[in-house]
Amino acid sequence: MTFLFNSDARRGAVFAEAFAKELPDLPFAMDATTVDPDAVRYLITWTAPEDLARYRNLEILFSIGAGVDQFRLDTVPEQVKIVRTVEEGIVRMMQEYVTLAVLALHRNLPAYLAQQRAGEWRDIPQLQAKSRRIGVLGIGQLGQAVLDRLKPFGFPLAGWSRSPRQIDGVTCHHGEFGLEEMLAASDILVCLLPLTEATRGFLDADLFAKLPKGAALVHTGRGPQLAHEALIAALDSGHLSAAIIDVTDPEPLPAGHPFWSHPKIILTPHVASATQPATAARAIIEDIRRHRAGLDPIGLVDRSRGY
Ligand code: NAP
Repeated sequence: MTFLFNSDARRGAVFAEAFAKELPDLPFAMDATTVDPDAVRYLITWTAPEDLARYRNLEILFSIGAGVDQFRLDTVPEQVKIVRTVEEGIVRMMQEYVTLAVLALHRNLPAYLAQQRAGEWRDIPQLQAKSRRIGVLGIGQLGQAVLDRLKPFGFPLAGWSRSPRQIDGVTCHHGEFGLEEMLAASDILVCLLPLTEATRGFLDADLFAKLPKGAALVHTGRGPQLAHEALIAALDSGHLSAAIIDVTDPEPLPAGHPFWSHPKIILTPHVASATQPATAARAIIEDIRRHRAGLDPIGLVDRSRGY
């Protein structure tokens, strides 16, 4: 029985140490060429290897990230559980990034950066937080954590999910009708949806048109959810005021893509959050313990929903 780690050596070293201490009975390997494929029960990776089928006794395929959209779920054998990484490090980083982005938009930072470049010293009327409504698309692990971090600032907070949710201090919406309601009342919209067939191309011209004039976007979901041309059009027409974009399709963007230089866009290279090895190793070890005890792992993916 072996745990196979298929990612960077730096993180691997941290995992190896944690596994040796916490699960000494489970051999840990980082080089697929040195292990007997039949011994591999657990595999952690970002992309699933082409030859996944050679691990005939695989029980869990772990994604080393919070999403599983990089896997082709239909090619993973039925009996293999697909599990994403749910760990406190990734959550904390996303809380920091979205708080940074929301405050930057709330305090008109993109416009002030443009003014600085133009040598212009001029104040922009400032809304108070209680008048700046924040809407979060996707209120799972990350969306909820982000909303929690935003609470002390006093913004009116809302969130949207597929199924009904209840969160203290947050107006929760769900389904088609709930989406319209939330969009119409979101001055800053944050996307933290997983990438599925239902959310591909979700941030499009129709959706932007449903936001109030002057609204802004924070996109930290996945690149293929955003229609680039629609965003540029909404910014250029003045319907949207600014966007902070962490994920794009493709990544990296090609030279000359309008996002690089658009005055109303702040672009970061998919760095909002990343799996932190020490906390991730703890979370994966806990998931293996749960699995061995006959319980579902915490990050178990529902194949029918795609997330
Ligand atoms: P999660 O716990 O699975 O939560 C997903 C949320 O989205 C849930 O509230 C879910 O609704 C909702 N949702 C999914 N499909 C929907 C649909 N069709 N309509 C309405 N709501 C829908 O996921 P998470 O851990 O919060 O992560 C979210 C995503 O963040 C990841 O999948 C990944 O793409 C992205 N991410 C980005 C970075 C970065 O660095 N930029 C880092 C980590 C993660 P229910 O509550 O009803 O299930």
